[in-house]
Amino acid sequence: MNKSAIIINVIITLIVYYVFYFREFILARKEFKCARCGKCCSLRVKVNKEDIERIKKAGYEDFLDKKNKNLKRINGRCRFLTLKNGVTGCEIQDIKPKICKTFPISKGLFGKKIDIRCKNCSGKLF
Ligand code: SF4
Ligand code: SF4
Repeated sequence: MNKSAIIINVIITLIVYYVFYFREFILARKEFKCARCGKCCSLRVKVNKEDIERIKKAGYEDFLDKKNKNLKRINGRCRFLTLKNGVTGCEIQDIKPKICKTFPISKGLFGKKIDIRCKNCSGKLF
């Protein structure tokens, strides 16, 4: 392989890594502000034991999907997503699953990272 082919390969590899991996860490360094677009409430929302108990305790039933692992979705959106005068909200704001409280920020190998599926994380490549 000649020198220019190696350089091109290295550049392509770096771009691929940036797009699919490092970008999440770099973008997480900026201050994040939720735009309340509600897009993340269309994703699959995994719940843990504590989440389930907390929501049940508040009197809710039938909020899990068939596998009992995720929140139930209606028309592709979380069944707790509300829409009032064009503004999205969460019916269980104070007791929502842990993952909803922290999304789109989580911990990764290189520290804080942002989930690029969030539409307001400035990572609009897709
Ligand atoms: S997708 Fe991002 S900006 Fe939109 S509501 Fe979720 S966290 Fe907020
Ligand atoms: S529980 Fe609330 S924040 Fe979490 S996905 Fe459902 S509507 Fe969105």
